[in-house]
Amino acid sequence: MHGRRAAAPAPARPRLKRRSARPARSGRAVRPKFSALAMSFVAAMMLATSVPALAVTATDGVDTASVYAPAGEDTVTYAPQSVEVSEEAVISTLAAETYDVEAAPPPIVSEVANVGSVSIAEGDAIVWPVVTWEKRYSGFGPREAPCGGCSTFHDGIDFNPGDGTPVMSIADGVVVLSTENGGGLGVNVEVQHNIGGELITTSYGHMQYGSLAVSVGQRVTAGQQLGLVGTTGQSTGPHLHFEIFRGDGVRFDGFAWLSERIG
Ligand SMILES: [Zn+2]
Repeated sequence: MHGRRAAAPAPARPRLKRRSARPARSGRAVRPKFSALAMSFVAAMMLATSVPALAVTATDGVDTASVYAPAGEDTVTYAPQSVEVSEEAVISTLAAETYDVEAAPPPIVSEVANVGSVSIAEGDAIVWPVVTWEKRYSGFGPREAPCGGCSTFHDGIDFNPGDGTPVMSIADGVVVLSTENGGGLGVNVEVQHNIGGELITTSYGHMQYGSLAVSVGQRVTAGQQLGLVGTTGQSTGPHLHFEIFRGDGVRFDGFAWLSERIG
């Protein structure tokens, strides 16, 4: 009895489970159908909102740009364009295509007594050593000795702009000699220059005592005053004795050299 009663409800449980399982299965089967419909509906919505808009835009663009617009009114406005490039790329492009960098010519290195190594940068300006350079010029080369101890070969050129006239460096350079005991040259200054990459030395003699305006090792510029015209050393009257030479020390015609460069 207990077995039947007990057994009778027992088989009913599986039935209930089966019944309850059936609706669950049917529910599961509906959900996919619904979501598929929903997806297709969403897709339809996307087509309805996006495709027509694209079509209108494309049609307007074609009409305006080329087909229907009258000649002369066919204006097309382009949006400003920007290209993002890293700063490194820009720098490398400029360096490669815009700038052609040449190395600066190396300065001439000269040994100056009591100063040591002096680098002389190249300068462009060249001037006459006196303003009135054309006055009473005595040329370079063989000559009759103007005095007992004077040379028969004039290894410089003489300017006579007047006693006390300023004497100037003909170019940028470094003073390598500045003395009041220059022997036959009297009060004498020597300046070394870098002219066209070549070491050129100029000498200014017979200047007045007490007129020296520069000292050894001093850098000077073209036209800078060195002293005053005088008649110290072996000199017959106030004038500037000007010499010019290269590394070999052989004097050459400074008047021709200056005339060629100054004009
Ligand atoms: Zn002279």
